[in-house]
Amino acid sequence: MIIGVPKEIKNHEYRVGMVPASVRELISHGHSVYIETNAGNGIGFSDDDYKAAGASILPTAADVFAKAEMIVKVKEPQAVERAMLREGQILFTYLHLAPDFPQTEDLIKSKAICIAYETVTDSKGRLPLLAPMSEVAGRMSIQAGAQALEKSHGGSGMLLSGVPGVEPAKIVVLGGGVVGSNAARMAVGLRADVTILDKNVDTLRRLDEEFQGRAKVVYSTEETLEQHVLNADLVVGAVLIPGAAAPKLVNEDHIKRMKPGAAVVDVAIDQGGCFATSHATTHADPTYIVDDVVHYCVANMPGAVARTSTVALNNATLPYIVKLANKGYRDALVEDAHLRNGLNVIGGQVTIKEVAEGFELPY
Ligand code: NAD
Repeated sequence: MIIGVPKEIKNHEYRVGMVPASVRELISHGHSVYIETNAGNGIGFSDDDYKAAGASILPTAADVFAKAEMIVKVKEPQAVERAMLREGQILFTYLHLAPDFPQTEDLIKSKAICIAYETVTDSKGRLPLLAPMSEVAGRMSIQAGAQALEKSHGGSGMLLSGVPGVEPAKIVVLGGGVVGSNAARMAVGLRADVTILDKNVDTLRRLDEEFQGRAKVVYSTEETLEQHVLNADLVVGAVLIPGAAAPKLVNEDHIKRMKPGAAVVDVAIDQGGCFATSHATTHADPTYIVDDVVHYCVANMPGAVARTSTVALNNATLPYIVKLANKGYRDALVEDAHLRNGLNVIGGQVTIKEVAEGFELPY
């Protein structure tokens, strides 16, 4: 198969659909790979690196779209990219169609085969192509929180780890899933005083076993949540109710009563956030203050560490790219029900019920 990787064009997006190591793997399976010039430049993968892996470099995205049978990207295609898709071409990338009617409409018109990373599942019902970004965001949340606590950002001036003779910061993680457990690992590594709250007892058992007392695991009720949030120096919001907006677990009154200079990092902001006072911010201006509490609410945290994020994403997507290339999309989707769950649009038809219903489209 001929596979094409255009340079990402969304503002400040430095990730890339395939790293040179992935290219090499596809070449070894007998496929051809075309990369747009400078596609990986922002994160240290040069055109020469891609050439050494066996790719050919093309000067424009239009050339890549014209040549490729399958386009591999990171972000949802922008309007100019959508206009270059053609009937029967495979698009494999994050799509997030539910809130995006213009994109859905264009993908229908394109008659391309559009497979979204975020709806591919695994045998345990998890989302394996979303997990790497949650791992990144969870780990980053502690770095972000550490900075938010610095005086220059409006924080209380507390070092997460403390020093000999000075207590560490109290970190409370709301939600012990992929984001929350990764946040807790970083926080425990820094020797902070860590408490994880979750409503799923199996999750609490798993976390208890992993942390062996180095993090406290607590069943989340209104009472335990209030008690821990009001006592915290840093609260990380990492809850998810699949398919729904994040629950507003921390209300305005809680924020008013938190310690002055405490910080909240709302990782769930991409689902609306779990603090009543959250609104989305950007990497250029990541924090703001409400009632003396520093808020960090960047919706695309992994973008800041684009190199790590790209490699992590590629590690997860590569087996699926190889499968689609080796077998062709028909056989690959027929044989693998989990990959088939990734199919969002094909031949002008939306195949995700919630998206079709949301936009009153035929399904
Ligand atoms: P996950 O499903 O692995 O974990 C969510 C956890 O929340 C589960 O353990 C669940 O039991 C728990 N939970 C649900 N309701 C709860 C409640 N009322 N009280 C306590 N716990 C509750 O999800 P994840 O992959 O860890 O993602 C968490 C959030 O982070 C999602 O909203 C996701 O979209 C977001 N996210 C944001 C970024 C970013 O850049 N901002 C990046 C990746 C993920």
